[in-house]
Amino acid sequence: MRRPLVAGNWKMHGTRQSVDRLLDELCREDWPEQVDLMIAPPALYIERCLSALASTPLRLAGQTSAWQAEPGALTGEISPAQLRDAGCEYVLVGHSERRSLFAETDESICRKFAAALACGLRPVLCVGETREQRDAGATAEVVGSQLQAVLDVFGVGGLAQGVIAYEPVWAIGTGLTASPDQAQDVHAMVRARLALLDDEQAQAVQIVYGGSVKADNAEELFAMPDIDGGLVGGASLNAEEFGAIARAA
Ligand code: PGA
Repeated sequence: MRRPLVAGNWKMHGTRQSVDRLLDELCREDWPEQVDLMIAPPALYIERCLSALASTPLRLAGQTSAWQAEPGALTGEISPAQLRDAGCEYVLVGHSERRSLFAETDESICRKFAAALACGLRPVLCVGETREQRDAGATAEVVGSQLQAVLDVFGVGGLAQGVIAYEPVWAIGTGLTASPDQAQDVHAMVRARLALLDDEQAQAVQIVYGGSVKADNAEELFAMPDIDGGLVGGASLNAEEFGAIARAA
């Protein structure tokens, strides 16, 4: 059966002082054994996190990475090879904030996915529709085409080497969590779509939900058959709450 994954996305939060405090608190939490656990801190703090969390099951991720593994003239970028070298095991790819604020496209996301895999990182491919798209009944189409871009290049086998994060844009940072049924519908749709291509891979791939996951809604979300854990933003900045979410998975 699929192991759940609970991942924390710190986004652009933290100072050395607040990060150290949070790391201390994370070290005191009780982490479940049957759950994969990961946090994506700002890149500057990855090394700090790695050494502080060495005795915990928490693994590290980059929040984004460059579209090439090789060193090069890409001022400001961090390559997936560098993330791997720094001790990361995962990288988020195509988070909706990267898509909407940094003009990432399915094409650049696909390149990033490829570069991450080539470096031995597990890419966490983020997909999701906006409020307008949902209201227009276009959720399946939007999520389907975001996935298709990667499927066209890698097939289900390649996609399944990563993780899929379904994050409806209208639920991110808004407190408007998708209901367990709303999220389950999309997760099931995604899995069914992949199953048409390769049922075994489709049953194996982790599909996590993101968008205002909190300690008080995690359990009912994670209880749904196709929701394999969560990608947690705001609530991952609180060790106690993130711990509770992990234990709900
Ligand atoms: P949120 O963010 O939990 O604060 O809604 C989720 C995410 O952006 O990954």
